[in-house]
Amino acid sequence: MSKGLLTVLSGFSGAGKGTLMARLLEKYDGYALSISATTRSPRPGEQEGVHYFYRTEEEFLQMIREDALLEHACYVGNYYGTPAAYVDRMLEEGKDVILEIEIQGALKVKAKRPDTILIFVTPPSADELEKRLTGRGTETPEVIAGRLKRAVEESEGMDKYDYILVNDDLEECVDRLHSLIRAQHDRACFQGDFITAIRRELAEREEKKA
Ligand code: 5GP
Repeated sequence: MSKGLLTVLSGFSGAGKGTLMARLLEKYDGYALSISATTRSPRPGEQEGVHYFYRTEEEFLQMIREDALLEHACYVGNYYGTPAAYVDRMLEEGKDVILEIEIQGALKVKAKRPDTILIFVTPPSADELEKRLTGRGTETPEVIAGRLKRAVEESEGMDKYDYILVNDDLEECVDRLHSLIRAQHDRACFQGDFITAIRRELAEREEKKA
């Protein structure tokens, strides 16, 4: 069994990353979603060990000291980080692991593990982003304005990603995400065992003929 691949998914708040990942896991086998640790408080409906591992700042700093995190970053006054052990176990089991993290973390993961695929998810336009944020009906106008302002900053880093995934139609977007990851598996650098085997077979045939 070959090792799984690591994919980082980032994107503006309101780009539909959560729905996209949920649909990917529902539609296709072989994926695992990493669960991050954070010092922010749970939002209504969020559960420990499902959405995040909620930790105190002291506990989070301890994880950093123990080198238990693949990456960590500070975002809007809270720490967020990816526990390394789960990611590595899933990769060893051949699962394709997805991290849904922001850009600072994404770039740290890419620097540590260059075979990681960085994908940035975006709505088709700024108007559409605003429409989606407003349409949720859960956020105040101030919060929406804050997210749109942050989107301006986040758009600065978009060109550092390997792929831009425009989330217009959900099913199409899920299929394209799956195809991107499958295509990465087919790259020659991940097909070392196959290449070795077919080279040997071809050489053996020639030897027999000789
Ligand atoms: P939220 O508080 O809205 O759940 O997440 C805020 C931001 O933190 C999002 O952009 C999310 O992708 C990012 N995030 C979540 N987990 C991690 C993590 O483990 N590491 C990093 N670097 N960012 C994370």
